[in-house]
Amino acid sequence: IILRTVLNKKVPLQMGRMCYSSSVPTTKLLIDGRFIESKTSEWLDIHNPATNEVVGRVPKATQEEMLAAVDSCSRAYRPWSDTSILSRQQIFLRYQQLIKDNIKELAKLITLEQGKTLADAEGDVYRGLQVVEYACSIPSLMLGETLPSISKDMDTFTYRLPIGVCAGIAPFNFPAMIPLWMFPIGMVCGNTYLMKPSERVPGCTMLLAKLLQDAGAPDGTLNIIHGEHAAVNFICDHPAIKAISFVGSNPAGEHIYERGSKNGKRVQSNMGAKNHGVVMPDANKENTINQLVGAAFGAAGQRCMALSTAIFVGESRDWLPELVERSKSLRVNAGDQPGADVGPLISPQAKVRVESLIQSGVDEGAKLLLDGRNTNVKGYENGNFVGPTILSGVSPAMKCYTEEIFGPVLVVLEADTLDEAIALINNNPYGNGTAIFTTNGATARKYTHEVDVGQIGVNVPIPVPLPMFSFTGSRGSFRGDTNFYGKQGISFYTQIKTVTSQWKAEDATVTSPAVTMPT
Ligand code: NAD
Repeated sequence: IILRTVLNKKVPLQMGRMCYSSSVPTTKLLIDGRFIESKTSEWLDIHNPATNEVVGRVPKATQEEMLAAVDSCSRAYRPWSDTSILSRQQIFLRYQQLIKDNIKELAKLITLEQGKTLADAEGDVYRGLQVVEYACSIPSLMLGETLPSISKDMDTFTYRLPIGVCAGIAPFNFPAMIPLWMFPIGMVCGNTYLMKPSERVPGCTMLLAKLLQDAGAPDGTLNIIHGEHAAVNFICDHPAIKAISFVGSNPAGEHIYERGSKNGKRVQSNMGAKNHGVVMPDANKENTINQLVGAAFGAAGQRCMALSTAIFVGESRDWLPELVERSKSLRVNAGDQPGADVGPLISPQAKVRVESLIQSGVDEGAKLLLDGRNTNVKGYENGNFVGPTILSGVSPAMKCYTEEIFGPVLVVLEADTLDEAIALINNNPYGNGTAIFTTNGATARKYTHEVDVGQIGVNVPIPVPLPMFSFTGSRGSFRGDTNFYGKQGISFYTQIKTVTSQWKAEDATVTSPAVTMPT
């Protein structure tokens, strides 16, 4: 792994999270164009979720290192924002090609640290790549507006300009896509960027940063720090940072939104979810069951847009046995094994949590139609595996419904009518995504108009919008007012300057001062 080197220091091998052997590769910081070893004494282990072996170590950057990273962003800002927009575009055009050329390497890093299957990891990179491709249209995206002759000899026009140093804080579940929602859009607009990847999966971000350097991004335009809460609070507090993009859980997202906003920063905060799929009796059965299985259990359910909750309306509930059979056919295995459909969860703690939420459903009266606990994967006995699990007869008060499970668990509710299904969803605090499966256009239209969720799929299970649109999760899944990528992403990373100018003919000089408000 190119951006880690082995420390040759003699370090005692100890047990536990903060300890390490001398042979474990270390993750670098990126400061002012150089990949450097942190001087910290505090390190976190990175594990392969399929084996729980330590595959790397990531530093908790020191205060001095974090300050150096922001200073580097600040120094690079003026020259970078003054760089012609066509030059910035060229860098990102080269970047998208380099990402394509290195997709296998990026995917391998994702599978190693995050656990998802290699095919899914490539999808992770591709969805991020599409954002980079979108960023390449920046000359059109950053156009301002003009209105000539708004008054006699007077014209008004706007510039869309960068805002300064921006920062991104990313989660573990999409090690490529989510960082690529952040720094490419921020930087192509002319901002410099401080990235803090998830401490559990930093490897992919480091390779993405190296590729951006290779594409020609000047030193200091992207800096990378690592760490947990202290690094996050540093970002929320540093006065030079003007905007923060966050994706992750609700506790972290709410904290960052409040602390960052209080310090006068723009914050966009994408958070947790409980996404419902509504199955109408007129839906295409075969298609719907396949879509539900893929969207509930793909990536082991560790997607913010996973369809983790199904509402079967009317007699569609008779399809449950087939849903269970189809789910059983998925192969649980390490992500790099051929034919794997469902990889491990990120950590042993996540596995314990998911299993206890399954048990809470059973204890509260739900029916366990498929139990993925005690899934044994040959050769990977220490991995964090939970197989596809289905709980039916779930009611809204149960813990397995009120909490985001973030594992391969589908909870099933039933409703007699579409209105009942919509009411259930609108009473749920989250608003990230939802889907309806139907062959009736009027039903689909009613649903899309009445359901209070920011991203809706009609016969599409995971309706993550492509980057010419924006990621528009709502209610409890989002804090802020400007979404990620698309036109909204460009707005988030830019500010408007409005110029009103008057050029009068020489003989039309103003002869007396005007003291009333010009209209
Ligand atoms: P997380 O909140 O634990 O971590 C995200 C980032 O925040 C990390 O960089 C971490 O270091 C930092 N962090 C964690 N806890 C913190 C705290 N208390 N204070 C300050 N910083 C903190 O999230 P995760 O487990 O990495 O990711 C899973 C979550 O992300 C799920 O809830 C999922 O739904 C959500 N998610 C949302 C979207 C979306 O677009 N809505 C996309 C992906 C993931």
